[in-house]
Amino acid sequence: MAGIVFTEKIMQDFHHNRARALLQNAEELFTKQDVDTAVTAMADNLNARYNHPEAEAFPLVLGVMGGAVVFTGNLLPQLTFPLEFDYIHVSRYGDEDKGGEVVWKVVPRSNVAGRTVIVLDDILDEGETLAHVKQRLLDMGAAEVILAVFADKAIGKTKPVNADIVGLTIPNRFVVGFGMDAYGYWRNLPGLWAIRPEELQQT
Ligand code: 5GP
Ligand code: MG
Repeated sequence: MAGIVFTEKIMQDFHHNRARALLQNAEELFTKQDVDTAVTAMADNLNARYNHPEAEAFPLVLGVMGGAVVFTGNLLPQLTFPLEFDYIHVSRYGDEDKGGEVVWKVVPRSNVAGRTVIVLDDILDEGETLAHVKQRLLDMGAAEVILAVFADKAIGKTKPVNADIVGLTIPNRFVVGFGMDAYGYWRNLPGLWAIRPEELQQT
């Protein structure tokens, strides 16, 4: 028993120190205020589209777990039109969600057919994930799919899909904060920080 407690303590110290080390050379690209302003602008955009009595749509808003959880939680209370909320869970294989195959963990439910579907995601990088999500929703009979991404990464390449609504256009760097993590760390930061995850791999 004492051994288990001891091992647990070592694990916690390990993660605590790694998480702290990761922020050591980080650079804050966008402050909490920048982030809040961007989310409110996105809400204004969606409200302008859907918050009027003639807009008969009852959109299905889908948050892409887990990265979009903070964005979703901040955006939803600012939407002023009737909507239904649900989530999907999709990620790309591999530790950093980069470069790999798209894997579904929670697929869209059957309430998609005929609907306006607004997909909320944290970041559009190479675009493979959201291209896949959009195609699946269209295959399931969605009438319209609106992609609202909090951050669009300027990667200097054409993406297989474009976002309809973008919060912040960010430089081609790896970021954490506002729901986005590296090795599970720092989803809780209120701003966006650029880090070098490879630095950690060498320690
Ligand atoms: P894509 O298929 O667009 O290349 O990958 C998008 C997914 O990769 C995002 O939903 C996110 O999970 C992850 N991703 C891409 N760039 C970053 C980044 O800079 N930081 C973090 N934390 N995740 C990223
Ligand atoms: Mg994601």
